[in-house]
Amino acid sequence: MKNYKFIEEKYLEEVAGNCKIYEHEKTGARVLTVENDDSNKTFAIAFRTTPEDSKGTAHIVEHCVLQGSRKYRTKEPFMDMLKSSMQTFLNAMTFPDKTVYPLSSRNEKDFYNLMDLYLDAVFYPRMYEEEKIFRQEGWHYELEDKKSELKRVGVVFNEMKGDYSSVDSQIYNALSLNLHPDSTYGVNSGGDPMEIPKLSYQEFLAFHKRYYHPSNSYIYLYGDMDMEKALEFIDKNYIGKFEKTNPDSGIKLNEPFKEKKSLIDYYSVDPGQEIENKDVLTYSVVVQDRTYKNIDFMMNFISELLITSDAGPIKLALQEKGLGEDIYFTTNSSLPYDFTIVAKNTSRDRMGEFADIIENTLAKIVKEGLDKKHVLSTLNKYEFSIREGSGQHKSIIYVLRALNSWLYDRSPYEGLIINEHIKEIREKLDHGYIEDFIKKYLIDNPYKVELTILPQEGREKQREDKQREDLLAYQKTLSEKELDQIIKDTKELKVYQKSESSEEDKNNLPSLNLSDIDTEVAKIDPLVSEIKGAKYLFLEGAANKISYASLAFKIDHLREDELKDLALIDLFLNGLSTENYSFQDLEKEIYLRSGGISFALIAFQCKSKSKRKFIGKVKYLKGQGEKAFELIEEILTKTKFDDQKRIKDLLLEEKSALESSFMAMPNSFGFAVLEAQNTESGKFANMTVGSDYYDHIIKTLKDCDENFPALKERLEKVYGKILNKKDLIIHLLGEKDAEEEFKKVAQGLIERLSYQSKNEISLSLNKKMNLGYTFSSNVNFVCQRGNFDSFGDYDGSMEVLKNFLSLDYLYTNIRAIGGAYGMGINFSREKIAKMNSFRDPKLKETLDVFESLPSYLSKVEISDQDLKNYIIGSMNTFNPLLDLASKADLSLGIYIKGQREADLKKAKQEALKTDLEKIRSYSKLLEEILKTKTYCVIGGEAVKENKDLFCEVRNLIK
Ligand SMILES: [Zn+2]
Repeated sequence: MKNYKFIEEKYLEEVAGNCKIYEHEKTGARVLTVENDDSNKTFAIAFRTTPEDSKGTAHIVEHCVLQGSRKYRTKEPFMDMLKSSMQTFLNAMTFPDKTVYPLSSRNEKDFYNLMDLYLDAVFYPRMYEEEKIFRQEGWHYELEDKKSELKRVGVVFNEMKGDYSSVDSQIYNALSLNLHPDSTYGVNSGGDPMEIPKLSYQEFLAFHKRYYHPSNSYIYLYGDMDMEKALEFIDKNYIGKFEKTNPDSGIKLNEPFKEKKSLIDYYSVDPGQEIENKDVLTYSVVVQDRTYKNIDFMMNFISELLITSDAGPIKLALQEKGLGEDIYFTTNSSLPYDFTIVAKNTSRDRMGEFADIIENTLAKIVKEGLDKKHVLSTLNKYEFSIREGSGQHKSIIYVLRALNSWLYDRSPYEGLIINEHIKEIREKLDHGYIEDFIKKYLIDNPYKVELTILPQEGREKQREDKQREDLLAYQKTLSEKELDQIIKDTKELKVYQKSESSEEDKNNLPSLNLSDIDTEVAKIDPLVSEIKGAKYLFLEGAANKISYASLAFKIDHLREDELKDLALIDLFLNGLSTENYSFQDLEKEIYLRSGGISFALIAFQCKSKSKRKFIGKVKYLKGQGEKAFELIEEILTKTKFDDQKRIKDLLLEEKSALESSFMAMPNSFGFAVLEAQNTESGKFANMTVGSDYYDHIIKTLKDCDENFPALKERLEKVYGKILNKKDLIIHLLGEKDAEEEFKKVAQGLIERLSYQSKNEISLSLNKKMNLGYTFSSNVNFVCQRGNFDSFGDYDGSMEVLKNFLSLDYLYTNIRAIGGAYGMGINFSREKIAKMNSFRDPKLKETLDVFESLPSYLSKVEISDQDLKNYIIGSMNTFNPLLDLASKADLSLGIYIKGQREADLKKAKQEALKTDLEKIRSYSKLLEEILKTKTYCVIGGEAVKENKDLFCEVRNLIK
């Protein structure tokens, strides 16, 4: 390979590809290539960025380099490519010690376009000549006129304010800062909103100059491509133009603690919110020694074995003592490995007990040895997941794993290799291999921290108030001339933000032609036949000998109260003991005999009615079918509901998990609330994952304490009503020769089911109203939905409209001007439209932007070139990148809904034919949607201040 020094070659099963390591001769840039037959070609460039403070410099640089470059001079080439490329992944991420720019595409021309754009962006960003980029993305003063109050605004500034209102990220930050003082990891690389305003433009540019250099870079290529051609392109156009430097990006570590420390920190909760029993206990062991190869794998394996698994001895011991309401393991991807156990919703007085249980359990394991069966089943689980790959974005996961060793001057293979370790563990299982590892790294290691994190009412608000006071004081010190300057700058920035890129710059962006687009859509139509009266659907796929089987039982005959309890059963299955297995043994059996068993409740909306299903899913290797089905049948027919303590533990765990997910994804919460007012499937979803479910969990916790026998009876009754041969649908995704085994085992199961014909019951919808929900947050999450029942049919061109509105009008007004982190709109075949904003400092203004959509659309101008780009950018909707498990779900789902590949093909053709007239005609579509609108906003103070906008304002968390 010209201009690259070849270092090492190795075939790795873990990435199903031939890997090669190179070093770029001129600059020392490190290169890893993974050659295989995956059509999803992937490129990434990473830099080791090691911040010295919490001003968020690395994060702000990440945002800014994507805002225009030497060759691609539009305002936001990154957004332009999101609109107009066939990308299957296009993003950038800032970590505590690195910044990564990955992308992937299944179209070769597109892949080169995107790679060129990213390389030009990271090495030649336009932010050197345009300071406004820094001010917009980082922070700036905003002052409309002399009477107004001086404010600070900026995309990253607002994003991090949002981040600081999530409890989980506050815990994560507290851990990192307390575990690694005076080191690269003792600061917040994303940026602390109190510190971000201290960053100057000069400092920001200097950071880029120093770290964004080929000599400090890690380049990754993956997939089915000519690696020589790609590497030559990178050398010739980019890295070959640089001279070697020493960026001095070494990671600074603190002295390891010589003894265990007990520390206290705080997280913020809303004033007035319950703080009793809301303390967080954490126990960490920090491993700085990286001589053990792939310490990340070994530590993750041990955490799965001891804590995450239901049979994990540390988890069980903590649950035994009532400390298990919300126990989880957390770590970080950085040079030191943090092994941290977190217990939420507990009391600070129990810290000693918490630490003792962990330490005693570890000591006991080392003395008495681990449960071999549990180790073997966990090893199987890992092997199965390697065989499966790591989901649809596996190529991106692989580079992040490689960087876990590569970034620390070790071979990238170390982070990727897992099978060798599994083999070694199996071979040495009887010789105390894992026990010795636990002793050396977790017990004998003195670098331990017990960190108690306490809730503090209004902590975030105090920080905000302080900042506001300082700002007011600062405003008073400003002279007339200085104030005029800020007003002028504010105006100029707004003009810049609203301005369009020139046609010349737009035409200069790399783009595809419609002729580059194939007519393919996702291959999801299964072959339909019958087995013993049940519908049998088969979808063939190269699955590496794995079969994905689903059983969909009809549950349209269950009453509302029964469905609510069914949601609990869905939670309890797999977690409770059965007649033949304790719940701990059940989990071990599942992974010894299969790749996993799971259950789901889904309602498919078909016109005004819903089809509700209870779905059991199992994945297994060829030859495992019989045993896997035996187990799923055991769980579906022999689960026992008599363990009050266990049921209570599972309910508490779920309550806490729901609260975390509501706060982490308020938009999902909001849309579930809205859909429950409008559609049966929405009502069902809200009863099984949303606010109605949450309320039912809280009520059931009371029932569990007050009258357990009645609860048990209720659950058993509903459990007995799930299995029914009538209208049963079974689905298999696998290789052709997997059918025989599947048919045999499925047939056996079906024969043992009874046939019951029951009346279908319709669900009553929740009362239609606009709602506000509050929690400790300084940003808002706006959700609005409407119908277009009388507008006409769903049309593929609506996907183009979605792409256009989300990334153009809504992007400009809600993100670029409003300061929100995210926004979007979509239209579904069920004739529902949803629009939202994410981490939004505004509320009323955002609703107004939605309101302005029809008039904007009626007069909109889009050039032919732009429209073509929006069309191309919508194409992946019709052929999404899917892993096999998701493909199986999609195939079953669209079959139940009565859709077919042909519908997708038709919609794709409609999208390809979209013209300006069509887009303008959608002004009427938006009018109808807005006429039928309801909204739900989740946020902090702003929701209370705008209470007139809502019928009711409620607390998000009870
Ligand atoms: Zn960001």
